Amino acid sequence: MHELAVTQSILDIALRHAQEADAKRITSINLVVGEFASIVDDSVQFYWDLLAEDTIAKGAQLRFERIVGEMTCTHCQNSFHPQELDFACPNCGSQFVQITKGDEFRVDSIDVE
Ligand SMILES: [Zn+2]
Repeated sequence: MHELAVTQSILDIALRHAQEADAKRITSINLVVGEFASIVDDSVQFYWDLLAEDTIAKGAQLRFERIVGEMTCTHCQNSFHPQELDFACPNCGSQFVQITKGDEFRVDSIDVE
């Protein structure tokens, strides 16, 4: 996922929410980021500072809540947390595994004034 596009969509959501709430300022945004979502917090923060510059979201704090990833083996149904770059099932050694947790990325809540 590209952080610039992601950050733009976060800003769009935040501004729409603020407008609906008739808010004057957005103070913080709580984000849920899965371990496998390939989102780099610092990049999002970097783009945020650029994109939010001329909006009521300027200076808003971004809070990242990390979700630990989980994979499930399609062969033996074993669920496990993969070690670095080793996605094979530790129970049966199968390579046929699915991400069952940790690929999400969403705006959880937005705080406004
Ligand atoms: Zn297995």
